[in-house]
Amino acid sequence: MNDPAEPADGLPDEPLLETAPARAPGSVVDFDQACIRCGYNVRGLPTTGLCPECATPVADSLRGFLLRYAAPEYRRRLVGALGLVTNGILILIVVMFTAPFAAALIPGNGRLMVQLAILVPNAMILAGYWFYTTPDPGLAAGNDPARSRRVVRATTGIQIVTLAIVTLAGLASGVLPGPVAMAADVLHGVALTVSLITWIVHFIATMLYTRWVASRIPSRKWMARAALYCWLLPLLVLIPLAVQVAAVMMLTRAVGAGPGASAGAPPAPGPAIALGAGMMWAGCVMIIASLIALVLYWNLLHYVRQMIRRMDGPAPRRAP
Ligand SMILES: [Zn+2]
Repeated sequence: MNDPAEPADGLPDEPLLETAPARAPGSVVDFDQACIRCGYNVRGLPTTGLCPECATPVADSLRGFLLRYAAPEYRRRLVGALGLVTNGILILIVVMFTAPFAAALIPGNGRLMVQLAILVPNAMILAGYWFYTTPDPGLAAGNDPARSRRVVRATTGIQIVTLAIVTLAGLASGVLPGPVAMAADVLHGVALTVSLITWIVHFIATMLYTRWVASRIPSRKWMARAALYCWLLPLLVLIPLAVQVAAVMMLTRAVGAGPGASAGAPPAPGPAIALGAGMMWAGCVMIIASLIALVLYWNLLHYVRQMIRRMDGPAPRRAP
């Protein structure tokens, strides 16, 4: 097994939080303590006994807060959930970059195929966040980061609903007759706006929750990263976005205020070209900044996942 002080990649170099003080061996648990596997309150049981609900040794539940003392099922769930999120993000990136070509190449139903292709990684990511925030049955209520955990879950639920609306409205707008299609377009826009706002809240709550998960590893490095990303990554995405929106508004105004600006008149070329170039530049910066933010975010979840996975030992060696 790994020594906790082993300076391997990503492993903590120093213990961060003390484990629960070694409680006096001997008699009976005289405080409220949840069983790590099923959450049953083991108060009143002998410390050498078994949980009456799931037969886990009571002693296993008396070791404290760190993930390495949590139930293996709970650790596996975290690892699986983070795998869904990180792999979902990778698939989403591939789909996003290939979708425009696919839509152009596939005759007829290209748009439908793209919509469905985007749905799969999104569903993986959202399911991942849901399982990632499963409560640990072994933690007393006071040790659970109830607020950030619930905010991640609530915003994940909202994202599932808006994803369904965006997908359905997107499909409907191409098929349905005029007025219904317009209503679908409006609904599509509203759902997208709600989704964007929810995404920001979801992101911050996920970082706070991940900071807590990292504290159970325990890893100062990844706790600090999660705290930093909490504000850094939204700024990375939102500042170039704001510049881009401002450029678009200025361009619209410059075109509108140009000499002889009636409908259909050609815009004043000078400022329009300058602003158009500025807008393209801002667009490139926005894409690059968003990709950097995404890579940093992916890295954080990936390494947290790797560290939790290593707690259950290295994978069995293959026979030579
Ligand atoms: Zn139990």
